[in-house]
Order: sequence, then structure tokens, then C-alpha cells
Amino acid sequence: MAVAEGLAKTQRGSAFLSSPRKMLINGEWVDAASGKTFPVYNPATGEELIQVAEGDKEDINRAVAAARKAFEEGPWSKTTPNVRGKMLWKLSELIAENADTFAELESLDNGKACAMAKAVDVAGTVEHFQYMAGWATKIDGRTMQLSAPGTFGFTLREPVGVCGQIIPWNFPLMMAAWKLGPALACGNAVVLKPAEQTPLTALLLGEMIQEAGFPEGVVNIVPGYGETAGAALSAHPDVDKIAFTGSTEVGRLILQAASGNLKKVSLELGGKAPNIVFADADIGAATAGAAMGIFFNQGQVCCAGSRLYVEKKEFDNVVGGLVDAAESMNIAPGMDPACELGPLVSDEQLERVTGFVERGKEAGAEALTGGDPVDGNGYFYKPTVLTNVNPDMEVVREEIFGPVVVAQPFDDIDELAREANDTPYGLSAGVWTSDISKAHKMASKLKAGTVWINCYNVFDPHMPFGGYKQSGIGREMGSEVLDLYTEVKAVCIQL
Ligand code: NAP
Ligand code: MG
Repeated sequence: MAVAEGLAKTQRGSAFLSSPRKMLINGEWVDAASGKTFPVYNPATGEELIQVAEGDKEDINRAVAAARKAFEEGPWSKTTPNVRGKMLWKLSELIAENADTFAELESLDNGKACAMAKAVDVAGTVEHFQYMAGWATKIDGRTMQLSAPGTFGFTLREPVGVCGQIIPWNFPLMMAAWKLGPALACGNAVVLKPAEQTPLTALLLGEMIQEAGFPEGVVNIVPGYGETAGAALSAHPDVDKIAFTGSTEVGRLILQAASGNLKKVSLELGGKAPNIVFADADIGAATAGAAMGIFFNQGQVCCAGSRLYVEKKEFDNVVGGLVDAAESMNIAPGMDPACELGPLVSDEQLERVTGFVERGKEAGAEALTGGDPVDGNGYFYKPTVLTNVNPDMEVVREEIFGPVVVAQPFDDIDELAREANDTPYGLSAGVWTSDISKAHKMASKLKAGTVWINCYNVFDPHMPFGGYKQSGIGREMGSEVLDLYTEVKAVCIQL
């Protein structure tokens, strides 16, 4: 059984990787009911990193039962908002204290640069839990003046109950935080299923959740495959709500599975975001923003600016700068301090990205730079800029989820808006211009859950995030996320 040695630099990280990991059910670390484990790989080398307990239907059943008990009758059901807030804040502090361990495990598991994992994923996770700690004591109903004579009405905001949460591999720790933070602030109990490729930081988070004092059964973490553990969770008749981030294709399956008991569903799905540069923009900033918008996290970002539109007279200038940026990136394993672009998450993802670009080239797209994998071990793909594309091509329409951008020129703003919106997705968009009126017009024309103006990939726990159209249902973060994790009860009294 492979167990990684010498890869982690921190003591806690080495200890974590020194034996197969178990799952967290009812406050205990247990093996799968089947006794099975599955391998987790290091994408920088393709070698096996560690074995992890493989959850399946029976484990999901046990976890849901534990969550139900914690929610209905355990100490959690009597925990005050103030105490919930303190536990969430304590959790944020434990994560901050162990930032180096989280960052190295995220890097080894997902491939991303360790420094980036620390600065973005871990820091963002800490901030997210702190923000949600604040909400725990601020969840209110309202009072109503009713017209029925002699009555008084008010609403209560109550937790939904047992929440199933299924998360992807691109930001494993941060996606766990986006899901757990609001669910716990509102008083729910949770069964979390991390992605098969990247279960490690969620499992380490489970240890901290225990250290922070959350009672047994409040958070259960069941690693395993989507088709088994994930499907069992989304179809479970005793789960009140399911929250999912991942592909639109699986989002549809979740919605169908949830229909059995009509559980509440929130979905954060794919994207194919337009990133639009007007000729009057700060071209240096826009070019850097275009590069960051697509190459950050190896392009494995649901809101990646994967369709670049540049006003004709600046097209060559911006695209030339983007090619220079791509070619100057240091491609290296995530644990190399000089890493600017790490490997993709898996051999499967490398194959997907390679296939998209190959088919794009066959259809006539031209790779100005990149266009194929890096030779050697690991799942590295070159940062790629495709031009000579048309709106019907697969590379323009489908989410590639790799460091691949398609660049197209435009000259008419109305035509541009139509083309930018000509996609089943609507997660995000970027606009670069120094004309404030143009910026506002575009913000209103674009059908997307987030519009970044003269910036890209800026996140804040206080800013809602989610999709129009087939990019999802519901909004995470901000006050909006409280709607996903509370039920509204109207109480009417005849006085
Ligand atoms: P995925 O299958 O949608 O995975 C997301 C999560 O859903 C994982 O935890 C997965 O488990 C689980 N899952 C899979 N099938 C399920 C099912 N039938 N029922 C319940 N849960 C299920 O994504 P992927 O296969 O890893 O990646 C494929 C493509 O999805 C990517 O190329 C990308 O285009 C897109 N994607 C988007 C996002 C995003 O943030 N919007 C994130 C990841 C991927 P397993 O890990 O076992 O599959
Ligand atoms: Mg999958």
C-alpha cells in the first residue's frame, strides 16, 4: 500500500500522509463498511500518494443517520447562535495555525502551486469561516402587519436540516468552506463528499472541526466516488438539502436524484466566461488580467475567462502580450517554490483538455502558443492561446477546464454582447474599459452571475457568487447564501 514519504514539509503533513486515511462519521474516524480504499495520486508525478477509505451507500446511510441524530436531538440542536459563531471562528484560527500543512496537502493532492494554495485557498478559507461566524448571530425573521383583522404575523428562519454537500477537485479546501460555513452558521448538520481526486484537505479539515468543538455527527465527511457515494447522498430520502459544485452534466443528475423526496437543491456549475477588452482600457492591466483570468489554477476554474474578446484595433497587441505571458510562465510541480503553472489534476483531465484542443485545431483553430501537453511525467499542459476560431466551434462553446483561451476580435458593442451571451452558461464575465458608461452598459447586458470590471477573479465572502442559465441554481456567499441553508416559517397569531 503506497504511502507518501518525505513529500510533506510540515510535521502534521508528514503524519497525515503516513497512513491510509479514514472517513469521519458520528465523530469517529472509521473504515468504509466494505473495508475498501481507493488511491489518490500526486498529479506532478502520476505516482500514488495515499489510500483513502472508499465510502459507498452504506457509509452514506450511516453518515446521514448520524447527521439526523445530531440535528434533531444532539447537543447541536441546543447550541446557541453565539456558540456556533465561536466554533466557526475557532475553526478559522485552527486552519490559520495549520496553513502550511493545508497548503502542502492541497498542492500535493491537486497539483496547484503551494504558495498559491496558501495565499488563495487557505487564506480564503480562513476568511470565509470568519465571515460566516459573524452571520451565526444575525439570522433573523421579520414581523409583518397583516390585513386579516386582529392578527399578528412573524417569520422564523430555521435550519433546513441534514445537508448533503458534494464538491469538486479544483479548490478542494475552499469549496468545503463555501459549503460548510453557511450550513453550520445556520445550524444544519452535514454530510460532505469531497472529490475522488482530492479528498485530503477535507479530511484534515475534519480533524480541525473536531478540535474546534463541533459535536459528533454535525459534520460527517465521506470520501468516495461520485457514481456511488455521491449518487447515494443526492438520492437519500432523509437528506433535506443537497448542495453541489461541479460539472453541469453531473448537476443535472443531482437534480434528478433529488426529485425523489424533493430535497432543496443548489448548484454551482460550469462556465465559459467572456472576458472583454475595449480599446480604451488600460491595455497593460487588461492583458495581465486576461492571462490571470485563464491561467490561474491551470485554468481549472469555473469562472475562468476562457473566451477573450478584444476590440479589433488592440487585438494583436493584447493577444501578443497574452502569448508572452503564457511563454514566460514557469511550469513546475506545485511544491517547487518557483511554480507558476502546475499540473492538471488528473490524467483524465489532461486527456480531456488535450482532446478539446486537438479537435479545435482540426476544425481550423490556430494555437499561437502551447496547444499540447508538456513532455515527461505528471499531467502538465502548456498554457495555450487559440485564435482563428468561430462561434460554432467546440473550443468556443464547451468548458475546457484547462489553461486554454480562445481569442476573438470585435468591433460592434451590440454584436459583441449578443456573442458574449451566446452560451448556455452564465457564471461570470469580465469587462476592461476606462469609459464608465460603457462599463455600466456591459454590466447590465451580460447575462452572468458576476461581472468583473477592470479586474478578474476577485472574490469576497460578502459578494454573492452563482450562475445564470445552466451555470447553476442559487447563490453562495454574501447574505444570499443564508436563503440556501434556512427554511422560512411564517407564524400567524389570532390575538
Ligand atoms: P464532476 O464529475 O462534476 O465532479 C464534481 C463532484 O460530483 C465530485 O465530488 C464527483 O465525485 C461528484 N459526482 C460525480 N458524479 C456524480 C453523481 N452521479 N452523483 C453525485 N455526485 C457525483 O466533475 P469531474 O468529472 O471531476 O470533472 C469533469 C468536468 O467538470 C471538468 O472538466 C470541468 O469542465 C467540470 N468541473 C467544473 C467545476 C466547477 O467548479 N464548476 C469543478 C470541477 C469540474 P467524483 O470525484 O468521484 O467524480
Ligand atoms: Mg467525476
